[in-house]
Amino acid sequence: MRIGVVAVQGDVREHLRALERLEVEAVPVRRPAELEGLAGLILPGGESTAIWRLLKWSGLVEPIEELHRAGVPLFGTCAGMVLLAKEIVNWPERFFGFIDIAVERNASGRQVDSFETEVEVAGIGTVPAVFIRAPYIRRAGPGVEILAEHRGQPVMARQGTVLVASFHPELTDDLRVYELFLKMCG
Ligand code: GLN
Repeated sequence: MRIGVVAVQGDVREHLRALERLEVEAVPVRRPAELEGLAGLILPGGESTAIWRLLKWSGLVEPIEELHRAGVPLFGTCAGMVLLAKEIVNWPERFFGFIDIAVERNASGRQVDSFETEVEVAGIGTVPAVFIRAPYIRRAGPGVEILAEHRGQPVMARQGTVLVASFHPELTDDLRVYELFLKMCG
């Protein structure tokens, strides 16, 4: 199984390393041709506005829209979640909008307020979760399944083939969140 990681900005290497530990083929995606044959695609944490600008510049926006239409699962972590959300309550634009949630950018606080905690993920159990200027889900549509919360705030969700998490599974050794995504990828 081949899984791509959008590799224009953000914590790409950590995602690739986690996927390699699970013995799937992990490929950094910088150009449209690198989307070919993927069973799933990860959009990493970083800076959503910068990632979006670079995706446009690289001609990747439409090919990723096509990938989504074709039913290939997508997993957005932190900035990746912002990119996949239908609405951003404190930002004037929206990006892909593939999952019916409204997110608030930087809701967990500033960079210096970054923290590691544990969250209870439905079907998995307790996993370590690192929050860095993380988005929180402020609204979720009826088709959205909330998979985890932190202090009453939804921080992980799924709708169809789209999975999102506010936190960074790539910054811990726990691979269960990836296993959940790989299951979606078949
Ligand atoms: N605050 C960033 C954004 O909205 C996300 C931060 C992160 O990915 N660690 O783009």
